[in-house]
Amino acid sequence: MIKELKEQISLAGVIGYPLKHSKSPILHKYWLEKYQINGYYIPIELSTSNFKDGILALVKLGFRGVNITIPHKVHVLELADSITDRAAIIGAANTLYFSASGKITADNTDGFGFIKNIYDWYPYWKPKGSKAIIFGAGGASRAIIVSLLESGVDRVIILNRTRVKAQSLAESLGARVQVVDWNVDMEILRDAGLIVNTTSLGMIGQSEFSHQLDPVNKSCIAVDLVYNPIETGFLKQAKKLGLRTVDGIGMLINQAVPGFEGWFGKKPAITTDIRQLLLK
Ligand code: NAP
Repeated sequence: MIKELKEQISLAGVIGYPLKHSKSPILHKYWLEKYQINGYYIPIELSTSNFKDGILALVKLGFRGVNITIPHKVHVLELADSITDRAAIIGAANTLYFSASGKITADNTDGFGFIKNIYDWYPYWKPKGSKAIIFGAGGASRAIIVSLLESGVDRVIILNRTRVKAQSLAESLGARVQVVDWNVDMEILRDAGLIVNTTSLGMIGQSEFSHQLDPVNKSCIAVDLVYNPIETGFLKQAKKLGLRTVDGIGMLINQAVPGFEGWFGKKPAITTDIRQLLLK
């Protein structure tokens, strides 16, 4: 019975706790319908205490893999039979692939989605040799900094409310990553090529981003990871200063592409209608 299920229907999903805010089911359902794939993408809430048993049950049921979200992105690595280089460097995974023989591969596509999203908006962006300023030092920040270093950014400077967290992040990533105080003089923005808000400031229900970005130069790109609302205070301020801006929804879409392709065998196209659907 399980064998038949495996052969007929491709199954994937997202695991987290809680899950009600996840937009991934909308995104994958849209692509499954668009490409007429006989498959399902199912949200499954698993708390930490039943996470391991839950994942192993999905492997047995013939799932092709799952996305992993809060709070499981770090400890999921303990379950993996193999870990991609980028997930190992980031120290967290957001995508699992299950092989036919039941082996689990853990990958992290957040940094990939972040970089791809910037190029979608600005194909001529040149990260090599530039300086990036990152507000925030949480899980998303780490994935982004790793991908920026790989893209050739010369220097990354982190500002985080809790400085010690930024310091431990910087120490693990090498000399190109430095830390300054959260309330440092914003003159440090003057020669930045990229500024990124990876904090939850500006998200609905959270405080507003309140640093003044004025000294920044007009050739800089400003990226916000927050996508609810789509135009955050950070992005409004950057637009007023004449900067090019990138919102967070494209990263969300781009990070989902490798998983969908791996599970369902089709690389989905990123179109404006999917953006509109997720913004509803
Ligand atoms: P996280 O690990 O919980 O980190 C949260 C970050 O926000 C920390 O740096 C934290 O600073 C900072 N922060 C929270 N409240 C703050 C405040 N009042 N003042 C100053 N700093 C504050 O979360 P995450 O997973 O990195 O996610 C961060 C944001 O990125 C969320 O809004 C999330 O929705 C978004 N995100 C978007 C995408 C996408 O695809 N677009 C992907 C991942 C994440 P402390 O260290 O001082 O607490």
